[in-house]
Amino acid sequence: MADQNTYNKIEQDIVEIAAKYNLPLDKVETFLQPDRVIEVTLPIKIDEEIVNFKGYRAQHDNTLGPYKGGLRFHPEVTRDEVITLSLLMSLKTALIGVKFGGGKGGVVVDPKSLTAIQLEELAREYVRKIHHVLGHDIDIPAPDVNTNPQILDWMADEYVRLSKKHNPTHVDHKAYATFTGKGKHGLDGRNVATGFGGAVVLGKIAEKLKMKPREITVAVMGFGNVGYNFANFASEKGFQIVAVSDSQGGVIKQTNGELLPLDIPLVFECKQEKGTLAGCYCAGGVCDTRGGRMISNKSLLELPVDVLVPAALGGVINESNMQHIKAKIIIEMANNPITPYAYRFLEKKGVTIVPDVLANSGGVAASYLEWEQNIKNDTYKKADVLKRLTDIMEKAFENTWKVSTKNKTGLKEASYLTALQKLIK
Ligand code: NAD
Repeated sequence: MADQNTYNKIEQDIVEIAAKYNLPLDKVETFLQPDRVIEVTLPIKIDEEIVNFKGYRAQHDNTLGPYKGGLRFHPEVTRDEVITLSLLMSLKTALIGVKFGGGKGGVVVDPKSLTAIQLEELAREYVRKIHHVLGHDIDIPAPDVNTNPQILDWMADEYVRLSKKHNPTHVDHKAYATFTGKGKHGLDGRNVATGFGGAVVLGKIAEKLKMKPREITVAVMGFGNVGYNFANFASEKGFQIVAVSDSQGGVIKQTNGELLPLDIPLVFECKQEKGTLAGCYCAGGVCDTRGGRMISNKSLLELPVDVLVPAALGGVINESNMQHIKAKIIIEMANNPITPYAYRFLEKKGVTIVPDVLANSGGVAASYLEWEQNIKNDTYKKADVLKRLTDIMEKAFENTWKVSTKNKTGLKEASYLTALQKLIK
């Protein structure tokens, strides 16, 4: 989770960009305020006692379409965090050109402390408390930190039940469109979309640099949903993924000082088998990292690669390591992986940074396709989904690159400006 400093900085950046490009400041101030923040109490029976959990939903802006954004279950969720994340969703959806606004929700809970039955009850209670402000054309939640398709299925099921009861114009498939990232009625391809979108962005970067993928080395921090899919699709495009890591550390393969590409499907297979990448050091066995070695996450960030991809946590590139970063390009697949101070330092040094709001927007782009699929009562094929994701991501990247070149500014400023120009008239 990012700290308050990072959140304040986002608002400050928006005000500065608005002033620099003569956007009407009064309208910007209004835009910064969420339209509505709902706070609810969720009583759940645990060991014969009622425990009251706190839940939030911030509906930030619906200028371009229904509020849209994830819902996290985490003990550190706060009202302010949810509001700032909803603001970022408004920027992200506007930037990539899907007809959604911005929203975000959260429940203050450690889901690991609950049984499956308690977790289901919490998910359903959240929907019972806010169903009147949800809808396929009002507000559309999705999974986020510690929430998954199963939790979204419980929520969608509860919502459909309530909609049948209270909405005289209820239609099942439209009610299902009120949630994305579902298991049932979900989208084939949604689970790979964020990493896939990042790999599309990497492809565009190579094109701009007039370099071939095989000439570009990449290190990826984080080998979960986003990091693995990014590495896998980038590797399929021919990029040299020379390092990957998880929370226990990373693996590289090196001969005579030269970093060699990893076989990502084999590394993935090994991680599945052994649980962590640390086990994939491979003293024998089938994995590709034979001849390879473990490195720490700290060392991975400082490798002499062309592209660095933080795809795990926020704040990993900061004052303590920014001077040691050697990559010329950073693709922010995690949210806020670079602290504001380090961001300024690296941009000044000439590092090209693709901001999170653009780089990891493949997920919300896929959510749009899931919503559309449910509205049309259709089932989209994965190949068509990936084709449309490619188009959305390439277009968003091209627009941002053009604005950045025209204004001689970084991609983050260009992203925010592009989004604000659509949102503030
Ligand atoms: P995940 O839980 O699937 O994977 C996280 C990975 O990070 C795991 O491999 C874990 O071992 C690794 N990790 C944890 N701590 C680490 C550490 N200290 N050093 C190195 N690696 C560490 O999560 P995810 O869905 O892949 O999300 C990763 C990031 O991307 C998060 O910041 C998330 O907010 C962001 N994001 C995800 C999506 C999405 O669709 N999943 C969309 C937008 C942004």
